[in-house]
Amino acid sequence: MKKSQPIRMCIACRSRFPQKDLIRLKQAKENIVAYDNEGRSFYLCDECSINEKKIKGLIKRFKQEEERFIKLLKELIKNG
Ligand SMILES: [Zn+2]
Repeated sequence: MKKSQPIRMCIACRSRFPQKDLIRLKQAKENIVAYDNEGRSFYLCDECSINEKKIKGLIKRFKQEEERFIKLLKELIKNG
């Protein structure tokens, strides 16, 4: 039997993807940061993490500082 891989939902487009294909983030106080195995995490798909409109929506939704948040996403895409 094939082992099923975990599926997670992207918070921006609400589509489901294999967990390994998603960027994993978490909220630390006011800031969204890369997930570090502590606390509650959430996911963002590759497409949304480079989609300006979606990014702006998230910045608003989570009240993030735009420059820092975009920089974080870029770093995570590069590392992934
Ligand atoms: Zn998405």
